[in-house]
Amino acid sequence: MARKSFTQNTIAMVYDFDGTLSPQPMQEYTVLPKIGIEPEAFWAKVHKEATATGSDPMLVYMRLMMEALYKNESVRITKDDFAAMARGIQYFPGVEEWFPRINAYVKKRSGGAANVHHYIISAGQKEILEGVPIRKYFKQVYASEYHFNQYGIATFPKLLITDTSKTQFLFRINKGKEAISESINEHMPEGERPIPFSNIIYIGDGMTDVPSMALTTKSGGHSLAVFNPKLPKSKATCVRLLDAGRVDFIAPADYRDNSKLAKRVQLLLDSVISGIAYAAEVAACKAENAPSA
Ligand SMILES: [Mg+2]
Repeated sequence: MARKSFTQNTIAMVYDFDGTLSPQPMQEYTVLPKIGIEPEAFWAKVHKEATATGSDPMLVYMRLMMEALYKNESVRITKDDFAAMARGIQYFPGVEEWFPRINAYVKKRSGGAANVHHYIISAGQKEILEGVPIRKYFKQVYASEYHFNQYGIATFPKLLITDTSKTQFLFRINKGKEAISESINEHMPEGERPIPFSNIIYIGDGMTDVPSMALTTKSGGHSLAVFNPKLPKSKATCVRLLDAGRVDFIAPADYRDNSKLAKRVQLLLDSVISGIAYAAEVAACKAENAPSA
C-alpha cells in the first residue's frame, strides 16, 4: 500500500491578544475613549454585573457597549469604525517586527522543510482585531463578534469566545477545520491532523489562558506566559503558571530581537523543527521499506 507523503511540517504559533501582544484590553484604546467611558469604572461595572448575575463577562461587555451606543445617538459605530479605531492600539516592544522574523527563523533553521502560521485566539472583539496593522501576519483571527443588522448597527453577539471556549479553536487549528461552519467533532487519527499539538506553541499572559495552555501542554505542545515588566502583579501570575506546570517558560513581553522571550521561543521552535525532521524521517523510512504492491 502506497503511503501518503509526510505533511505534518506546519508549526502554529497561537497568541492571546490583550496583555500578550498589547498591554491594555483592546477596548481601552478604541471604543471606550470613543464613547467617552472611563475604562476602570466600566470594567468594574462589567465584573460586578457578571458576578452578581452569573453572566459571562464578555457578553455583559458586549451588551453594555450596545446600550451605551444606543443611549448616545450622536455616536454610531459600524463594523468599519471598529476596525478604523484599531489603529490606536499600542503593542509591547518589537511586536510589529516579530512575525516576519519568526517566519524567517523557521525557514532558515528548517532549511525550508517546515513552515509557520500565526493565529490569534482572543476573548476580545473581532471587529477591532480586523483593523490592526499586524492583521496580515495571521492566518486566522478568532474573537467574539457582533451581528450587524441591515443598517450596520450591532444588535446581538454572533460569536462568543471565552477562556474555556478558546480551546475549541486550538482543535480547529489542530484538525485543519478552521472555518467556524466546519464540525470538529468527527474523529481524526493523530497522524492525519494537519498541525499536531506537538507543533503548536501557545503564548498568553494570565489565568484566562489556563485552559488553552493546559490543553496545549498536555497534548505534547508548548506554552509560554508573558508579563508586563511594569506590573509586578502580572509577573506574579506568570510565576504561578510556571510553578503549576502550565507553561514551559515565562518571559517579559518584549518581542524585540535577542530578548529573553525571543530566545526562549527560538529554543522551542528548534525543538519543534527537530521533531518535524524526526517524524519526516520515520515516515520516509517506513515508505522505503513498505512491501511493494
Ligand atoms: Mg490576555
